Amino acid sequence: MTSILKYHNETEIQQAVDTSRQTFRSGYTRPLKFRRHQLQQLWRLVDENTDAICDALYKDLRKHKNETILGELIPTKEEINDALEHLEEWAKDEKVTPALVNKVGVTCVKRKEPKGSTLIISAWNYPIFLSFGPLIGAIAAGCTAVLKPSEVAQHSAKVITELLPRYLDSKAFLVINGAAHETTKLLENKWDHIFYTGNGTVAKIIMKAASVHLTSLTLELGGKSPAIIDENANMTVAAKRIAFGKTFNAGQTCVAPDYVLVTPKAEPKFVEAMKTAYKELYGANPQTSDSYARIVNNRHYHRLQKVLTENQSGEVVIGGQSDEKDLYIAPTVIANVDRDDKLMEDELFGPILPMIRVNDVDDAIEYVNSRDDPLALYVFSSNKKFVNKVLDSTRSGGALVNDTLMHVAEGNLPFGGTGPSGMGNYHGKHSFDAFTHERATMIKDLNPISEALMAVRYAPYTNGNLKL
Ligand code: NAD
Repeated sequence: MTSILKYHNETEIQQAVDTSRQTFRSGYTRPLKFRRHQLQQLWRLVDENTDAICDALYKDLRKHKNETILGELIPTKEEINDALEHLEEWAKDEKVTPALVNKVGVTCVKRKEPKGSTLIISAWNYPIFLSFGPLIGAIAAGCTAVLKPSEVAQHSAKVITELLPRYLDSKAFLVINGAAHETTKLLENKWDHIFYTGNGTVAKIIMKAASVHLTSLTLELGGKSPAIIDENANMTVAAKRIAFGKTFNAGQTCVAPDYVLVTPKAEPKFVEAMKTAYKELYGANPQTSDSYARIVNNRHYHRLQKVLTENQSGEVVIGGQSDEKDLYIAPTVIANVDRDDKLMEDELFGPILPMIRVNDVDDAIEYVNSRDDPLALYVFSSNKKFVNKVLDSTRSGGALVNDTLMHVAEGNLPFGGTGPSGMGNYHGKHSFDAFTHERATMIKDLNPISEALMAVRYAPYTNGNLKL
């Protein structure tokens, strides 16, 4: 496909890096008034350009307008509202009680200082929120930022590039477009924080580049997020919620349920419930439904086709159809997949749901624990013991009981992975924290009485041994 996106050249990249650094050094972005105004401007950008943004997302992913509003624009506006409401509270010095040794004439505070000149590299699947979400954190914290949208969602990157300078201060917030080459150029520079969203392979490149300058990092990655289903769960409700999570954005969601763990006894009931759920969501032929998104490009379409054709085990019980011209892959469920099947190697990132048979909850837990820590873990059960056993015995970035995806929409919860699914958090105050350095600051007086009280620390130690 010919690119409609103009990539920046090396001179432009260097100019953006230098501008971001110089602006931060000048203190321009620190005043709360400035931060507040920029946040309001970003809110206006979204509000006044909803149609243009939805149009770009439609071109990139054939996303229905409602899905863009639900998955991208409402979360962006909510994050901005939250930051505007709490900015003063988040940014103010936090007093701490001094220890006994510092009791007299001492004030201890954590100063909330902006990390500095930051780089935000975002991914294509939610191109607006994954760019603006971290940007909100950077603005609120008082940082400058260079944003590198994903070149894969090129219409969205274009709309961001056109709109951002019209609303935000271009001395502080700049957009650079490009692919691996341009990002590598950006990464050769010294940043005060790098916020990366994307896959784990590129994350290792980012981490290596950050290590040169010992730059701090937030890594928002992915993984194979399991859904464990209690055989006594309400299958109708569980299936509808899994179907929603698996096909929102055609499954191209970092926290989409990747696979299901279910007992042989519950499997037929669950499959029937999934059939009903998909019919309710997308009708008899999802290809004709305007609510069902498409695979982002040929490369990802062929990647998914390859896993579908190379899988050695299981039985396609729902879907299985695809159409290359339309980048369409039907909502697909494959039952009784082997634990070491090709389908179980990498994050699927598409509307294909393998089901693995387990003997019981212990077997499910053991399987989950034999793999990398996922970004999300889903458990469906009304039995508290079952739920607690799963939560107590597994690890994941986040966990959600009896639904999918919705924990991400909860701004008061931190969002991030653990181990291979990521490092660091954001959303709500956590976004502010990601771009903030808590500077431990002790302020003492020069009062001779305080000085006398501290005399014991000075040599010569003539007053005998201190007792512990
Ligand atoms: P992508 O292809 O858009 O890549 C992400 C960014 O990395 C882009 O800006 C791209 O230009 C840059 N990049 C690519 N190759 C590079 C290289 N060699 N050097 C430097 N930069 C490079 O997105 P993707 O990686 O396909 O995204 C999908 C992955 O991201 C999935 O694993 C998904 O789970 C994960 N993801 C995580 C989150 C989260 O918030 N945790 C959100 C969305 C996606």
